[in-house]
Amino acid sequence: MINADVIIVGGGPAGASCAWMLRRYGREAVVLEKDTFPRTKPCAGWITPAVLKSLDVGPGAYPFGMIAVRHIDVHAFGKRFSLPVRQYSIRRSEFDAWLLERAGVPVFTHRARRIRQEGQVYVIDDRFRCRFIVGAGGTACPVYSIFFRKQRPRSRECLIVTLEEEFACPGADAATRLWFFEDGLPGYAWLVPKEGGYINVGLGAKYHRLGGRGGELREHWSKFLKKLENLSITGDREFSPRRHAYFIRRDTGPMQLGNAYIAGDAAGLATVDMGEGLGPAIRSGILAADAIITGKPYSPAGLRRFSLWSFIFPGL
Ligand SMILES: Cc1cc2nc3c(=O)[nH]c(=O)nc-3n(C[C@H](O)[C@H](O)[C@H](O)COP(=O)(O)OP(=O)(O)OC[C@H]3O[C@@H](n4cnc5c(N)ncnc54)[C@H](O)[C@@H]3O)c2cc1C
Repeated sequence: MINADVIIVGGGPAGASCAWMLRRYGREAVVLEKDTFPRTKPCAGWITPAVLKSLDVGPGAYPFGMIAVRHIDVHAFGKRFSLPVRQYSIRRSEFDAWLLERAGVPVFTHRARRIRQEGQVYVIDDRFRCRFIVGAGGTACPVYSIFFRKQRPRSRECLIVTLEEEFACPGADAATRLWFFEDGLPGYAWLVPKEGGYINVGLGAKYHRLGGRGGELREHWSKFLKKLENLSITGDREFSPRRHAYFIRRDTGPMQLGNAYIAGDAAGLATVDMGEGLGPAIRSGILAADAIITGKPYSPAGLRRFSLWSFIFPGL
């Protein structure tokens, strides 16, 4: 049996940020992560200046490729305009691996499945034991489903379904683009260039507003590919986009029960307008660590619910 004061299930941005903060304050923590990093994660990979601030890192201190995005080419309601912004784009495989390594805590490659509470301790798969447990395993986090599902139910209205693909496209036109509500999509599509000649394309929509139990997303994807073809960046590429789902925020219950906490997508914290999940994941991971260190209550009160305005005015 491996004993630790705090065990964090999931080594994505929420888990890594929680581990990083705990270690900074001298608390013993270990991470259980089912995948070996660097791993692929479906994500457009745009981050705000607030994310870098939370991580205590300047853009120049990030050791991998990061593009500073200053304008977004926005398409909405048949109009097209250039929106001045202050954002950054990163590749998730690099960003997540860097965050987890920077946390500097032991990481066990292990998929947590069975978790039980025995008095004051949590036992995971009869192999790990801890006093505090943090669920940071994303949408399918077992800490959420075992301890929180009943008290913090997820609503179908908050489910976002996505299709996404990232690919190498050296020398492509480097404009970041967003298409809102095109062809009746209840959401938006994106094209986000990354450093090193990569491009991320995808679309995300509210599941309950899509017909055909979400199957309609594929039809939107086909229409989206036509737009990309017109931009002459996809060539004759055969796309096979990955599907992923996550929840935007709706505070329906606690994020802490005894010494169990949930953070990031496990708690369903993405912003309600843009589905920004990285900022809330990182902030909630840090807040969970703070609550463990200080014993203060843990809640989403300090987390942003919206991100549209902070696109343009990062100080907000
Ligand atoms: C297509 C798409 C595009 C997006 N684009 C953006 C964007 O541009 N900007 C933005 O801010 N947000 C974006 N988001 C949202 C963002 O990706 C998530 O909100 C963010 O990844 C949440 O981080 P997390 O650490 O909570 O979860 P995750 O990043 O999902 O990390 C969870 C980790 O837990 C591990 N894990 C899962 N189950 C277990 C288990 N049982 N045992 C051990 N380990 C486990 C997983 O392997 C994973 O590494 C996007 C989401 C999608 C789907």
